[in-house]
Parts: sequence; structure tokens; C-alpha cells
Amino acid sequence: MPATVLVGTQWGDEGKGRFTDLLAKEMDLVVRYQGGHNAGHTIVVEGQSFALQLVPSGVLYPHTVPVIGNGVVVDPAVLLDECAMLERRGVDTSRLVVSGNAHLIMPYHYELDLMTERFLGHNKLGTTKRGIGPAYSDKAARVGLRVQDLLDGKIFRQKLDVVLREKNALLSRVYNRLPLDGDEIAERYLEELAPRIAPMIGDTVGLIHAALGRGERIMLEGAQATYLDVDHGTYPFVTSSNPVAGGACVGSGIGPRDIDRVIGVVKAYVTRVGSGPFPTEVDRETADRLVDRGREYGTNTGRRRRPGWLDLVMLRHAVRLNSLSDIAVTKLDVLSEFERLKVCVAYEGPDGERYEHMPYHQSILHRVRPVYEEVAGWGEDLASVTRVDQLPKAARAYVELIAEQAGVPVSFVGVGPGREQYVTFAA
Ligand code: GDP
Repeated sequence: MPATVLVGTQWGDEGKGRFTDLLAKEMDLVVRYQGGHNAGHTIVVEGQSFALQLVPSGVLYPHTVPVIGNGVVVDPAVLLDECAMLERRGVDTSRLVVSGNAHLIMPYHYELDLMTERFLGHNKLGTTKRGIGPAYSDKAARVGLRVQDLLDGKIFRQKLDVVLREKNALLSRVYNRLPLDGDEIAERYLEELAPRIAPMIGDTVGLIHAALGRGERIMLEGAQATYLDVDHGTYPFVTSSNPVAGGACVGSGIGPRDIDRVIGVVKAYVTRVGSGPFPTEVDRETADRLVDRGREYGTNTGRRRRPGWLDLVMLRHAVRLNSLSDIAVTKLDVLSEFERLKVCVAYEGPDGERYEHMPYHQSILHRVRPVYEEVAGWGEDLASVTRVDQLPKAARAYVELIAEQAGVPVSFVGVGPGREQYVTFAA
């Protein structure tokens, strides 16, 4: 059976975790294909909230094999801590398989992340400072260390010594920091972490293709989102990998023809964290209401997110970039707060021109004004809605507007954070 990709269509925090979790129930393999521990899925199971950073959501089901694909960057200490946290809470992590080709996040990546941000000053990107960007830079520069290097101390040490010479020169001579000690890093990674990570390392490409061959069900789970994609997002305020559906092929080792469903997760409004253009950003009072009701604070960082009205221009473009087959809407319940809602149907450019799709030039994106359509709110709590016919008429119309404007059907709608708080729409 071909694979399903689940991808965020905005700037992240769409609530992907709960739908990955929902779909994971029916999957044999759940694969993370990019990003690192800068992601943060929150899954609420029977009142218990699990914040997953690196481990794929499938871990919560005993029949699912969670896989960390080659496209991910891994800090082994963080991975082990996350597994220990899950084990303490009764979740078995022994099925987890980590690609030997995934790249390692090293101590100097953290230092460089911090320093680069500091040197960028006002232009800083607002990274999570977890070494993710520098680890991906080293991967592209071909000086990265990979998970498989943990299995061969000699190679690990050789590569480390070569790369550390350059990193230490940079740290001490450019950034005025203390150089890092190669012996200390090697001891920590090879003696402390490697023996515990080794049992998890495997041939994930082989595993995925064997599963495809057996007709098993595979889900490829994206972290971050379409507009944080390093190629298609609002550069430079993006992540350093490719969350778009195409990235799922690269980051897991399958070809496009092995994918037959791409689900885009659409929050009923939009949020973004940190800097960058945001056409539908709302005023402070509306923002406070959305942030309060939607609990729009970062899972890992606690940072307040910037909220805005639903942007259908972005959504139409996300449909193209990911070849979405269907949509899962989240957090519809948060909009119960408002009597009237605004939805952005187009942008008006600086010279009055109308954009139905994202302008390719970002200076235009910075200057567009959203063209809003006002629609009626429903003003009713949706927490206990479990069927489409229980949705208030205006809420249903809102969902139908999304499907119509996107040109693809909506399959699920989230009406609360709980595992069961969602409605299925017939295709
Ligand atoms: P991700 O970054 O896209 O993976 O976002 P998360 O999965 O971490 O979700 C962000 C937050 O939204 C979490 O606290 C979820 O519990 C919450 N959430 C997800 N779906 C819904 C929903 O339909 N309604 C409400 N109120 N909260 C939701």
C-alpha cells in the first residue's frame, strides 16, 4: 500500500500531532523525514499530554514501528532523554529505528547557532538555538557526522578532529569563545551515548521498502510546515530542511510514486512564531483572544505565537506545493470566541494588483494588504461535537469555504485538543 504524507500548510503549530496520532492508529510504520528536536507535537491521550520532539507520534501505539528517517538531524542525548521520559510514562520505545544516515547534532552546533543569531543582531532569525541549522549546514558542506559514525569510534574520531579544527578556529577567532575539547566530545558521544543508541540504529530505507512490498501502511510525518520550508517558505525566516511533501521522499528514501495521499493540516486561523512577513496578522485585542483561547504558546520554547485570520492565498499555494489530496482542519473550536470572522481570499499588492496565489517576490509579500471576506461566527462551544450534523450551520459553512477555496476536500475537523474531539467528513 502506498504511503501517506501529513504536512503543515502554514508556519507550523497547526496541530499536526493530533492527526498524525489519529492516523498512526492505522499505520504499520510512522516515519519522521526532516527537522530535529525543534519540532514539538502535543498529543493528548486519556487526559495525559505527551510533548514529542524527535520521536514519531506512532510510538504511542504498540503495533506501530516509529522510524527516524535519514532527513532528520539527531542529538543523541535528547533522543535518549525523550525515550526515557516515554518509558517512565509507560510507553514502550523499543521498536524505534533510527537511520544510520541521519546527521548528528554536535556540541559546536549549539555554540554556532547561538553565535550566529547574536551576530545577526536585529536581523536574527529567532531560531530555537538547538543546533539544527548548523547541523544541516555541515550536512550540505559535507563535513557532518552521521548516526552511523557512532558505530565506528575510529571514523567518528577522525571526522571529529577534522571538523573541530575549523569549528574551534571559528569559535575562538571570530566569536571569541573558548574552543571545544575533542577528547571530551568523543568520550561523551562514543562511550556514554553510542552504546545506548546503537540498538536503535538500522537500515530504515530497507525497512520502509520491505514494508511497502508487504503492502503495509506507512505514514510520513512532517515537522514544521510548508512556509518554513527552506526552499518554499518565507526565507530567511524558515527552517533549514524541506517540510513540504517532496521532502518526505528525500528524507525517508522513497520515490514520489510510492505516495498516494498527502494530507495538509490547516489551523482554522494562522499563527507564526518569531519574525517574518505575515499578511493576515491581527490587532492586539483579537490576538489576545486567539492566543488565550487557542493557548498559542510554543510547546518547547513557551514563546507567544503571533496570530492572524485564515489566509486562503497561502492555503491555495500550499495545495500546489504539496499536491494535497485532502485537508484536516484544526482548532475550529477556538473561533467559537468570535461573532464575525474574517477570511483572507486574496492579497492586494502595493500598486493595487490582486493576488490569488502567493507573490513570488518577497518584498511584495511584505507590502500586500489582505482582502477579507467577512463570515458569520457560530458563538457555540464545539467541545462535544462528534458528527458533522452536530456542527452549527455557520461552522459547517466555514469548513466548506476552506474546501471550496482550496479545491480539495476536508476529511477531518478538530474541535478540541482531546484525541476524540474531532469530526470526520465523508470524502
Ligand atoms: P504541531 O506543531 O503542528 O505538531 O502542533 P501540535 O500538535 O503541537 O498542536 C498544537 C496545540 O494545538 C496542542 O496543544 C494541541 O493539543 C492543540 N490542538 C490540536 N488540535 C486542536 C483542536 O482541534 N482544538 C484545540 N482547542 N486544540 C487543538
